[in-house]
Amino acid sequence: AAAAADAPERVFPELDALSARVRRQNQLIGESMEELRARQDEFQSLIAGMSEGFVLADADGRVTSWNNAAMVMLGAEAGGVLGLETLCGDETWRKLARSALAGRQDSGLLEIAGRCCRVTMVPNVRAGRLAGVGALLIDVTEHERREAMRREFSSNVSHELKTPLTTIRGNAELMLNGLVAPGDEERFLRTVYEEAGRLLALIDDILRLSRLDEGGMEKERGSVELYAVCEEVADRLRPAAEKAGVTLTLSGEPAVVDGVRVLLFEMIYNLADNAVKYNRPGGSVSVSLHKSPEGVLVTVADTGIGIPPEHLDRIFERFYRVDKSRSRALGGTGLGLSIVKHAAALHGAEVSLDSRPGVGTSVRVCFPPESGAATDGRAGEVQA
Ligand code: ADP
Repeated sequence: AAAAADAPERVFPELDALSARVRRQNQLIGESMEELRARQDEFQSLIAGMSEGFVLADADGRVTSWNNAAMVMLGAEAGGVLGLETLCGDETWRKLARSALAGRQDSGLLEIAGRCCRVTMVPNVRAGRLAGVGALLIDVTEHERREAMRREFSSNVSHELKTPLTTIRGNAELMLNGLVAPGDEERFLRTVYEEAGRLLALIDDILRLSRLDEGGMEKERGSVELYAVCEEVADRLRPAAEKAGVTLTLSGEPAVVDGVRVLLFEMIYNLADNAVKYNRPGGSVSVSLHKSPEGVLVTVADTGIGIPPEHLDRIFERFYRVDKSRSRALGGTGLGLSIVKHAAALHGAEVSLDSRPGVGTSVRVCFPPESGAATDGRAGEVQA
């Protein structure tokens, strides 16, 4: 009763305090709303800028947020975004969505319109109850393609290594068992020797390719004078050319490019080596080097057997050969042109090939002008 009697006098001060608190609360709520909105904006611009696809849904499977990357990967229409499960017709997607809405996290690969993406669907469980589902999509097309290529390359390598080894072992076995007629030993030993050489050439080329694949050759970059490289190639190939009855000529002018010398040698050597190998007695090979506004141009032209048009698309592939037995008989590995292509890409150079069966083949490698123009040792700055 005493308190009630006192009350009227304290009504106003108490109300003041209360209304001050209400005002403060209102202000806090306003600030929180502001912050929430800012966070929401931040989240939206973050997911909009992501190259990964992102989709959020509530516990009932209604899509609440998404970004454009997800729509593109799923081949979905942004206007029709409603349900998580129906967002995409792909069965894997639907299964993942159903699992996540049942509280299970899972991931899988989707293949849509020739592209491949990995989807991870994560249920968001709060206090033991499903609050929503998030899906993350990553385009792995390139990764999958590389993996497939690697698998194919490994199986090709094993096969290519096995062939000479089988011959070596077979010959050695015949000799060990005394099954080689006297006088024939040399022929058998020669085969062993040649097949071992082929094996070494193959391993060298495989190692070269894997070094190229790994990258990391940038530190060997510098200014390289290509005419001297061409001369070295010609000197190295002259004995083989003479043996094959092929004339080898070199023409042009000194030209400096920015690059890795061993690779430039390798490229020109492989091209000139092919030009000699796939030639005919009395034929010729010309290597020439020119500077032009388009850059430094190396041309290796031959009057050899040429390449039938239906093979032109594929000869730069690893282990692809028009005539396998001819290539093998000439000591080819089937990797020469793929090394050329790879090394050219590393130098920003373009390779083009013209060929007519029975007439000859001409391969042009064009190095970009900025590297060709650099003759003062600053070339490393251009592309490093
Ligand atoms: P290889 O070690 O078999 O020579 P490459 O990758 O260097 O492997 O070449 C692939 C194939 O392209 C060769 O097997 C050959 O059939 C064809 N080829 C390459 N260069 C020439 C050329 N100058 N003339 C005719 N055919 C060629």
